[in-house]
Amino acid sequence: MDIIIVGAGLTGLTAAIRLAEGGARVRILEMAPLAGGRTRSFLEPTLNTWVDHGPHLLIGAYEATNKLLNDVHAAEYVHWQSALNLPLWEKDRGFFSLSTSQRLPFPLALMLATYRLPSHGISSVLSMLGIAKDLQFGKSAANAETVSQWVERLHLAPMLYQDFIEPLCLGAMNELPESANAASFKAVLDAAFANHQTARLGWFTRPLQQALIEPLCNKASLLGVEIITHCRVTHIQTEAGRHGKLITSSGELRCDTIVLAVPPNIRDQITGQTQATKPVPHRPITNIHMWFKEKFQLPAPIMGALATYGQWFFDVSQQHQNQYDYTHICAIISADNEQHDKAWKLNAVIGELRQMTGMKELTPFHHRMITVKAATHQVNPADKIEFEACMVDACEQPLPGEFPATIEAAVMRGEAASKQLLTIS
Ligand SMILES: Cc1cc2nc3c(=O)[nH]c(=O)nc-3n(C[C@H](O)[C@H](O)[C@H](O)COP(=O)(O)OP(=O)(O)OC[C@H]3O[C@@H](n4cnc5c(N)ncnc54)[C@H](O)[C@@H]3O)c2cc1C
Repeated sequence: MDIIIVGAGLTGLTAAIRLAEGGARVRILEMAPLAGGRTRSFLEPTLNTWVDHGPHLLIGAYEATNKLLNDVHAAEYVHWQSALNLPLWEKDRGFFSLSTSQRLPFPLALMLATYRLPSHGISSVLSMLGIAKDLQFGKSAANAETVSQWVERLHLAPMLYQDFIEPLCLGAMNELPESANAASFKAVLDAAFANHQTARLGWFTRPLQQALIEPLCNKASLLGVEIITHCRVTHIQTEAGRHGKLITSSGELRCDTIVLAVPPNIRDQITGQTQATKPVPHRPITNIHMWFKEKFQLPAPIMGALATYGQWFFDVSQQHQNQYDYTHICAIISADNEQHDKAWKLNAVIGELRQMTGMKELTPFHHRMITVKAATHQVNPADKIEFEACMVDACEQPLPGEFPATIEAAVMRGEAASKQLLTIS
């Protein structure tokens, strides 16, 4: 079987590895100079170091990702907490964390951790119990129900909403609860709340280029996969529904089967579906990388911040085990509504960092602000497009109840596409 995969992001690379393991001849066409897609890094010229376009957070429930990382010998580049510890900061309450004790069974540990959160108490514990009960026995959320509506239906305590639901919703779904799909949010909570292992957080201990993309590309090339970069696919045709023909910036190519692993709106352009389909809605993420001469550490490598502009602060130096002689912090603005200009955003997150650390003069000697406009595609109840037999759709278009746009969903799509093709052959 001769297969061409369009797109060398995580979905395309996963599909390529699994298909090549199954004996297929695989080529990947990638328009960028390097593989990696949204999980790529770039070489920052001022510091001569790899920097992630967006630092990524993992949860223990990412089973497919974990397996893939093991298979490509990249598991050593992920640090896992021993149990859930969600560090949070708020101006009035300072640092605190939702951390579960491994000595107790997970549900009990979660209730106790909730009880111990400052300004919480029995009402938050009862709300957490309500969530657990709803996940296990509740009726499934209607396709269009939002997280806010779900929270209202469960009468959750306002403090739990503010300290738990909102940061998790932004982190996992890149959306505010007002618009995020409840069924998909529940799918994440359900998977994460299974036990201590699934609930913990993880992060990469090296830039994604070294921790994820190089191991994937090395594995792919060992299996004979050809990754052709600088090659933009502009148009795809099928020949009698049985063969694929791709028009690319480097000429025409033919194959038995095409796997589409590009963002969905690009899929619709290159397959000529734009008339028949509505654009898949997407959300931006802004990452503000800041480098400081002062050596300091945040209380944890990843911090959620409440009632602030920067919603998550990644202490990249700490994540990368302090191998630099400066401090690298990245502030994340999920679902950035882009109401403010760059200078305002930078000042806002520097001000928040100063408050967090008590270092009043803190000023970065260098910064880099990156807004990824289509960072994640929203959960959307639209019908999926039916393609001819020689084309497999592995693009990010989560349906209600499915995992939202995450690296886990990307790996699962790559795995599913390869299984589908290997079963047919
Ligand atoms: C800033 C940011 C932060 C994120 N944080 C997290 C996180 O913390 N945790 C998490 O789980 N997920 C996170 N995500 C989401 C996650 O990165 C994505 O869901 C996932 O990487 C999507 O992978 P993909 O392979 O499907 O798509 P992509 O990574 O977009 O790959 C598609 C590839 O196709 C290529 N391509 C596009 N058009 C063409 C063409 N015409 N011809 C050839 N090639 C083409 C692109 O260059 C790209 O390499 C984040 C995303 C961003 C942007």
